[in-house]
Amino acid sequence: MNLSDAFARPIEYLRVSVTDKCNLRCVYCMPEAGLPWLHRDEILSYEEIAAIVRAAASVGVRTIRLTGGEPLLRPNLERLVAMIAEIPGIDDLALSTNGLLLEEQIGALAQAGLKRVNVSLDTLRADRFETIARRPGLDRVLRGIDAAIAYGLAPVKVNCVVMRGRNDDEVADFAELARRLPIAVRFIEVMPVLAYSEAQREEYVPANELLERLRDIGDLQPVLGPAGNGPARYYALPNSAGTIGVITPLSHDYCNRCNRIRLTADGRLRLCLFGDYHVDLRTALRAGATESKIAEMLQRSMLIKPERHHLRLGEPASRMRALSEIGG
Ligand code: SAM
Ligand code: SF4
Repeated sequence: MNLSDAFARPIEYLRVSVTDKCNLRCVYCMPEAGLPWLHRDEILSYEEIAAIVRAAASVGVRTIRLTGGEPLLRPNLERLVAMIAEIPGIDDLALSTNGLLLEEQIGALAQAGLKRVNVSLDTLRADRFETIARRPGLDRVLRGIDAAIAYGLAPVKVNCVVMRGRNDDEVADFAELARRLPIAVRFIEVMPVLAYSEAQREEYVPANELLERLRDIGDLQPVLGPAGNGPARYYALPNSAGTIGVITPLSHDYCNRCNRIRLTADGRLRLCLFGDYHVDLRTALRAGATESKIAEMLQRSMLIKPERHHLRLGEPASRMRALSEIGG
C-alpha cells in the first residue's frame, strides 16, 4: 500500500524536524529574540519519531530528511539516525543543517547510517555571515562542508538563499565554489516568512535573473541533478567538480512534482510547507495508537494535502496556524 494524494502524486519523502531551536537567527527565518520554544515534553522522543517513520515506511515512504530548527542541537542525534537506518523500506536518510556543529558530529552520524547532507550557507564572507545569520560561524560551516565531503556523504548540497543587496553579488563566488568542490550549490528564492515578509518584497531575486548572471560567467549547461534531487533544476559551468541548482518556490511552481510531507518537532504531520494543513500524530501516538493506526492516519491525511501553495511576493506566509485537522 502506497501513499498517493488526491492529485495522484506519490508521496515518498518525509522531512522530520527534530527540534524547533536554532543556534543561528537567519534574517529570513527567525526573529533575533528567537521563538516561543516548545517544552521538552511537547517534543517527540526518538522512539516516537521512529514509530512514525516505521508507519510511513509501511505505506511507501522511502526517504527521510532530518531537519529543524537546527537538528544538530538535539543531543545524540546519531541514536535516531541509527534507529531510522535500520527501518525496512527506508533507503535514503539525509540531514539539513546550518553546519555549525557538523565537523564534530559527522563521523558518528555517518557511522550510524546517514547518507547525505545539505548545508545552508548564504555568504562566503565572515562579516556578512554575522549580518545574515546574526551570529558568527562561517569558518565552522566551511570546515563542516569539508568534513562531510571527506566522509563521502556525496553529493554534499550547499543551499544558498539569495537576497538582493545582502548576498546577490556573491553568485559568482558560489559558482566558483561549485567549480572547485564536488558539491551541488543550490540557489533558493527567498520566501516571505513571518516578520521577513516585508523585506522579502525588496530582496527577492527571481531565479531567471540568477541564471542570467550565471550565463554571464560562462557556458552554463543544464545537467541531470545529483541523486535525490527534489524541486531543484541543475546546471554546470565548464570544468566544474560540482553543479549549480536553482530552487524556485515563487517564480516557478514545483508543486505539481511535490512528493513530500513533514513531521514537526511536536508531532504534527504537515501536508504542505505553507498553509494550514496538519494532522496531530503525537496525541494519537500518546493515546496508544499502533503503527498500523498511524499508517492509516497517514493515508487519510492525503485527503487534505493541497494541490499547491499560494505564496506571493511580500505576503506573509502562515506556517504554524492549523485550521484543518483530521482525527484518528
Ligand atoms: N537549520 C537547518 C538549516 O538551516 O539548514 C535546517 C532547517 S532550515 C529551516 C531549512 C532550510 O530552509 C534552509 O536551507 C534555509 O535556508 C531554508 N529557509 C528558511 N527560511 C527560508 C525562507 N524564508 N526562504 C527560503 N528558504 C528558507
Ligand atoms: Fe536556523 Fe536554519 Fe532557520 Fe537559519 S534557516 S535560523 S540555521 S533554522
